[in-house]
Amino acid sequence: MKITLGDILSGRVRIVVRRRRRKLAETPEVKQLRAEAKAYLPGRLKELAELNGFQYNQLRIKHNVSNWGSCSVKGNINLNLNLMRLPAELQDYVMLHELCHLKHMNHGPEFHALLESVCPDHRRLQRQLKEYKLI
Ligand SMILES: [Zn+2]
Repeated sequence: MKITLGDILSGRVRIVVRRRRRKLAETPEVKQLRAEAKAYLPGRLKELAELNGFQYNQLRIKHNVSNWGSCSVKGNINLNLNLMRLPAELQDYVMLHELCHLKHMNHGPEFHALLESVCPDHRRLQRQLKEYKLI
């Protein structure tokens, strides 16, 4: 099939450019963080979930520079190994934030009400979190 500029401009043909995900270097520091994350985060997430009545499917430890954690519609939670560079209260905040996304997949008023109920200090913690950079 021959695609013309007209096809593209008219929207008959859509071109999707997928950015190739650059693999982050597994430096000794990252390796160390990954080991710590695998040893600590699964147990702590389970604890926080049980304490606050959340049920998740799987936890994956990730390394990326785009988020501290994420939650999928399938109920899976991803946590960034960079969490191991944070004080415990910020680690807990990120985990509770993602657990709340199991019930509300957005940052709407219901999400915030739920987050407030399980983590009353979330505004202060969110501000503090911004002072840390993902590596
Ligand atoms: Zn969120």
